[in-house]
Amino acid sequence: MNNVIIIGSGCAGLTAAIYTGRANLKPMVIDGHEPGGQLAITTMVENFPGFPDGILGPDLIDNMRKQAQRFGAEFKSGAITDVDLSKRPFKITAGNETYETRALIVASGATARLLGLESERKLIGYGVSTCATCDGYFFRGKEIAVVGGGDSAMEEANFLSRFASRVYLVHRRNEFRASKIMIDRTRANEKIQFLTPVVVEEISDVSKGGVENMTLRNAETNQASTLPVSGIFIAIGHLPNTKVFRGKLDMDENGYLITRYGSQTKIPGVFAAGDVQDHHYKQAVTAAGSGCMAAIDAEKFLEMRADV
Ligand SMILES: Cc1cc2nc3c(=O)[nH]c(=O)nc-3n(C[C@H](O)[C@H](O)[C@H](O)COP(=O)(O)OP(=O)(O)OC[C@H]3O[C@@H](n4cnc5c(N)ncnc54)[C@H](O)[C@@H]3O)c2cc1C
Repeated sequence: MNNVIIIGSGCAGLTAAIYTGRANLKPMVIDGHEPGGQLAITTMVENFPGFPDGILGPDLIDNMRKQAQRFGAEFKSGAITDVDLSKRPFKITAGNETYETRALIVASGATARLLGLESERKLIGYGVSTCATCDGYFFRGKEIAVVGGGDSAMEEANFLSRFASRVYLVHRRNEFRASKIMIDRTRANEKIQFLTPVVVEEISDVSKGGVENMTLRNAETNQASTLPVSGIFIAIGHLPNTKVFRGKLDMDENGYLITRYGSQTKIPGVFAAGDVQDHHYKQAVTAAGSGCMAAIDAEKFLEMRADV
């Protein structure tokens, strides 16, 4: 029987592990398919407080993990495949293993949707990004592209135009999902140029370890072209990792967990933290902050409910 199980080892899960560890709860952390979470696949993080010269994402995560281990957190590999939250103790299944726990913190994050190109995957953190707030600053004075046609693509293009000398908004259709007001605002921005209807076929140059250009194909004329850019922001949405909680926890229409009064879900004793319940801020520091909240909420819950 565990006091608290934490699903996910990104910034939210690891911060929850540090806090619950220091509260002597001996947390168990389930790593999932991506130990360390999204920061483990990026390079320089310049906006996490406390590192004036920036820190590599994997190093930041490694520090948090060691800090959690120092306070007694136990790590298990594997991904959660089922949960029984109908009664306490909760039952958490990861493949052939089933664990019981008095409290649960869900910190399973959200995965950025990608175009699915091999080159895109290899160049993440090396010119390909899924987060304008995180990486825009690296592209001061450069020509870059934003891929997508929704409100978030428009928002990112406008935000990035503060830094970049030119932003190409690349979309596979002539019509946009974005709201009219966002489209109008983006069209009015002189630094942003719309390229439609074009499909991204390739991002180069993997062999040089950085983005130099993208190959586009016009969906109407089938003509291919090369667009020289230094950075590419993929803004086609995120997928919260909440499949195993469908029908068990409240979610919004996009599958993000709904929390109330801090980190509480609709089931007493089940808490959620980080990007899995935040489609707005999506930052390492906000994920860490909400991991802290979930840990304190879980600790208080266990203290008040000695019967569980
Ligand atoms: C390329 C990139 C660069 C970024 N750069 C910055 C930056 O510079 N600054 C910044 O503030 N933010 C940055 N971000 C955003 C930041 O990484 C996220 O906001 C943060 O990682 C969210 O933390 P999290 O713990 O909520 O989720 P995640 O980091 O997504 O971690 C989720 C964890 O849950 C686990 N998991 C998922 N499903 C299951 C399951 N079924 N069972 C068990 N475990 C599961 C995963 O394996 C993972 O360990 C960046 C993101 C990306 C992708």
